[in-house]
Amino acid sequence: MNYKGGASPLFYMDPTASSPVADLHAPAHWRCVDLISDLHLQASEAATFEGFRAYLNRPVAERADALFILGDLFEVWVGDDLLDPTVEQPGHGDRAFWRLCAHALLAHSEHTPIYFMHGNRDFLLGPAALARCGMQGLSDPAVLVLHGQRYLLSHGDALCLADTDYMRFRALVREPGWQASFLARPLAEREAMAREMRRQSEARKASSAHDPDLWADADLAAVREALQLSGCSTLIHGHTHRPADHDLGGGLRRLVLSDWDLGAHPPRAQLLHIGADGAQRRALAMTAGI
Ligand code: MN
Repeated sequence: MNYKGGASPLFYMDPTASSPVADLHAPAHWRCVDLISDLHLQASEAATFEGFRAYLNRPVAERADALFILGDLFEVWVGDDLLDPTVEQPGHGDRAFWRLCAHALLAHSEHTPIYFMHGNRDFLLGPAALARCGMQGLSDPAVLVLHGQRYLLSHGDALCLADTDYMRFRALVREPGWQASFLARPLAEREAMAREMRRQSEARKASSAHDPDLWADADLAAVREALQLSGCSTLIHGHTHRPADHDLGGGLRRLVLSDWDLGAHPPRAQLLHIGADGAQRRALAMTAGI
């Protein structure tokens, strides 16, 4: 493990993280930013992609000065060669979908910077895909300094310490050696592995043993420690799909982003908007008119 600072698992788990984190100071002309996470974009969920595209195509007056994506933008990512136009199309439409996503992001990035942090689904998204999507990579955690406030940004999975099975899995798949050997497999084989993992995950969800209330949540001691180490008072994260504003006492707080599912009833598509007045949640339906 590449532990460089205090005891916070946020600074412990991510081999690319350093402590303290390099601050991302918002340029003087930024008035507001949008933060989203857990869209889980996938070809089979067309409504969510259309909602995201509607967000990206909003009129200029409604746009934020930057978009921060805090992980799990994509349901799965098996390698940047998904976006390589020289790679042959298989018999199914998923590669065309990933390229549609990249095209929409790249077009947005031409007027608005996009920052992307890995989630536990799209942790394999690499520099080539970042470039094709017009996104800038963001380490987990990262500190955003905007309007004099310091915000600690994270996907959130590294804070769910009670999920020990997942923490072991995470440590394994974040190893450069594991990633290199996975990415060395043929693309079609990686896609088949992802479909099989998804099938198993759907089967688990359908089983009676599956109870979302039992899923691990962020460990509060770890959250406080991460805030103290980074000199921030507000942590913003996704991953848990439990949107809420938590007052942690002592001036500390934790803002949890919502996931997106525009095929659900009612549809979910929410962003966190930070401007001079602080952070507020906005439903996409209100801003995009869909
Ligand atoms: Mn996640």
